[in-house]
Amino acid sequence: MKIIDKQTIRVPLFLSVALIIFSINIYGFFAYFRENELYSYLKTTGIYRSRMLFDSQVSPEQMEVTDVDLKESQYLQKKYIIYDSIGTLIYKSKFAEPHLSPSLLKKVFRQQIEQKDDGFERVFFITKENFSKKTLIIEAEGYDLAGFNKQRTLLFTLILTNICLITLIALTTRFYIGKDLRPIGSIAKRMKKISTKNLQQRIPESNLDNEIGDMAHTFNELLDRLDSAYSQQRNFVSYVTHELRTPLSILLGNTQVSLMKERTLAEYKEVLEGVQYDANNMINLVNSLLELARMNADAQSVPFTPIRVDDTLWSASESLKQKQPTYKINIEFEEIPEDIEEMMVKGNAELLLIAFRNIMENGCKYSSNNKMEVKISATKEAVSIIFSDEGVGIPTADLAHIFEPFYRSDATKTIAGHGVGLPLTKRIVEMHAGTIEAISKIDVGTTFTIILPLTETN
Ligand code: ADP
Repeated sequence: MKIIDKQTIRVPLFLSVALIIFSINIYGFFAYFRENELYSYLKTTGIYRSRMLFDSQVSPEQMEVTDVDLKESQYLQKKYIIYDSIGTLIYKSKFAEPHLSPSLLKKVFRQQIEQKDDGFERVFFITKENFSKKTLIIEAEGYDLAGFNKQRTLLFTLILTNICLITLIALTTRFYIGKDLRPIGSIAKRMKKISTKNLQQRIPESNLDNEIGDMAHTFNELLDRLDSAYSQQRNFVSYVTHELRTPLSILLGNTQVSLMKERTLAEYKEVLEGVQYDANNMINLVNSLLELARMNADAQSVPFTPIRVDDTLWSASESLKQKQPTYKINIEFEEIPEDIEEMMVKGNAELLLIAFRNIMENGCKYSSNNKMEVKISATKEAVSIIFSDEGVGIPTADLAHIFEPFYRSDATKTIAGHGVGLPLTKRIVEMHAGTIEAISKIDVGTTFTIILPLTETN
């Protein structure tokens, strides 16, 4: 069942029940007060008659005249019967029929008795004569025509009002819920049309300053992420293929050419060195890719222990210098805690070493002086490591993309690289709940800042 249909039934149903209960209460109270008013009127006029008969000594004939006068009032067909204490009839108005049975006689001494008979309402009660103090039983009966008329009019008005209000509530509920839910329908239609072929399409968010607008906005954000992940995925495969196929084709070409005729030992050596260089390059790429895949797949299973950041930085520098002896890396301490042992980070030394070495290697690789300055400073909460070089720099437009897999700036295309180091570094830093940022100026240099939270030592 659609929400609109459900709500059009649910809301009016609830309000109708409330309205009907309210109306029944009003009607009930009115009927109760009307009845009480009639009984108290019948009692007062009954007592008045007994006084006239016994205290004022008015004759029964004269009493008939009074009854006629009283007929002018709203209570029609009033009849009075007066009995003595043993139930003997003393007075009865014209057309009155006595209803006092022996059982009623017993009861009336205990409490007032009320009876309803075909619209007539009757009351039996006891009173005392003023002078002789004799007990009298009075039976008074009347038909409350005006009261019943009012009661009927009230019932009719309530039924009509209820029908009108319930219809009105159902229609307005349907109208407003329909109006509020309409955008969901158009959003759903739009969503159905979005597939991997047109992930760039978005849902209109304007004019929707409500929960549905928030939902559309959130969905658009999800599409943004899906779109970028999907295009990254597509690019990833083509980049990997390209990065592996190019050196393999060169490698194959070189070996085919050298096998075409007999070569000297020196020539064979040169070809084999070339093969070795390309193979090394591919091993580096495959290793980085495996590392990246491992980071994304089972980051949870990487063991974390307390490690000193400065130690890891020294190790990274040493391992890089072993590979590239011409690289110069200068590590300096700036603001550091008095007790250097407090500079502990909860992390994985092997992974942090890869991250630091990537940044150091880039700094040296993309600078003509092959130099990198590293500065460590720490507060009580975090350690920050600033890597600066005086290299070619990164164009501002490229800065936003350097952490994407395989992204390489045009400024550095002439220098060997695969564009996998920085995404891997970023992933490692994020695994350590840290941040990495880069600022750069063309032909001035680049600075990477990594901030890692320190473990609480106490
Ligand atoms: P690679 O260095 O293998 O190309 P990275 O992922 O490490 O891959 O770096 C991505 C790109 O970012 C590099 O190709 C380069 O264009 C740019 N880059 C990174 N570090 C520097 C730097 N220190 N100076 C200039 N460009 C840099």
